[in-house]
Amino acid sequence: MTTTKAANVAFPALPAKLSRLVQFPTVSSYDPAEEDDGAFLALKEELKALYPRVHAAMRREEPSDRSLLFTWQGEDASLPPAILCAHFDVVPAPEPQNWRRDPFSGDIVDGELWGRGTQDIKVLMASALEAAETLLAQGFSPHRTIYFAFGGDEEVGGRRGAGALADLLASKGVKASFLVDEGGPISLGMLGFVDRPLALIGVAEKGYADLVVRAKGSGGHASMPPRRTAPGNLARAIAAVEANPFPPRLTKTVRSFLARLAPISRQPYRFLFSQLWLTAPLIVKAFSAGPTTDALIRTTTACTMLKGSSKENVLADSAEATFNVRILPGESASTVMERLGGIVARHGATVSEKHAGNVIDPSSESGMDHEGWKAVEAALSAAHPDAACVPFLFSAGTDTKHYKDIVQATYRFSCLPQSQEDLKGVHGDNERVRLADLDRCAVFYRALEESL
Ligand SMILES: [Zn+2]
Repeated sequence: MTTTKAANVAFPALPAKLSRLVQFPTVSSYDPAEEDDGAFLALKEELKALYPRVHAAMRREEPSDRSLLFTWQGEDASLPPAILCAHFDVVPAPEPQNWRRDPFSGDIVDGELWGRGTQDIKVLMASALEAAETLLAQGFSPHRTIYFAFGGDEEVGGRRGAGALADLLASKGVKASFLVDEGGPISLGMLGFVDRPLALIGVAEKGYADLVVRAKGSGGHASMPPRRTAPGNLARAIAAVEANPFPPRLTKTVRSFLARLAPISRQPYRFLFSQLWLTAPLIVKAFSAGPTTDALIRTTTACTMLKGSSKENVLADSAEATFNVRILPGESASTVMERLGGIVARHGATVSEKHAGNVIDPSSESGMDHEGWKAVEAALSAAHPDAACVPFLFSAGTDTKHYKDIVQATYRFSCLPQSQEDLKGVHGDNERVRLADLDRCAVFYRALEESL
């Protein structure tokens, strides 16, 4: 490992600690045989050496081999607790030759720390614990109880980690005020008409479903085909789905997002976003024009896989298409299947779930009038006073779904500034974090924890 010294940092020990955590190849997989159990065990063991005060002051529990729970007892038992989450598994780095530094090196070079987990999302675990470590050194204890809940399989669904953690918390009768987990970044230059960085706080998460559309045929030999075949019926069904997109809708989250953008946007956006009663139809039309914004206002259905006959000269008994569906808050997997089923039925096709149990309804929409929002916003202004805090509809899945029954409000936020270029490192090559941003991330957690 090579290191360079950074000046004026609030958390001088943090880079070396995150570097250590990056060096454990805790790659999660849907196939447990592919996972390096030793790496997960060793990482959990290493935390004891890295965060001795946390271990001395907090209760540590491991409800499963892919989870860790720390309880930081608050002074006022009448206050509902807060839960701070992160995950310590990472996605694979299948092409290390494309990286400028080894993906599990934890190298620190020219003010940057390299490797898997430096953006997604060991960085949050290291920052939240380092903030607590330094607060403990000053004799601080929080008003309310804080739970640090860390899962080790978020990238593959989170059942072994967050699922076990949520079960344990539920068994203790925990009803938390709010939860903060990974989510939107501090986006740099996302919108051309806003000059300030935007802290995108995910207050809601779209639902997820892999659905199969299946059309029947009569089978038989390809030399004497019927007029209509299974693939033909399927093609018509797919075309019908694409011709009938789900209706657009400005959800509470998107309305709040626009209302927050209004005062910091240049004209004409300032006017458009502040007069939604008048301009909503215009905004829907503009958002529909591009895939990124379109995904904010409707349930999307992407046809991703096709299957028919497995032989050139044999007619398919049935043909099927996989649709990857992202469900807008306010709808549900069952209402979506009902609508899709109606569209494809006209072409003799049916809709079903592809993997039983892998359908996730959209989350509820957490408000900005909640004490959790106010705590996140205040902590952000301590770490990044130039950034504007805006509510956002998060389109990727997180561990938060497992906690929905034990929290009032959920905020998904990764306190790291990210340009479009930086985003390429998330699940991509050359993932790394600037040391200055890492330090600010811990400033965010320290301010948050201090306020709880
Ligand atoms: Zn993540």
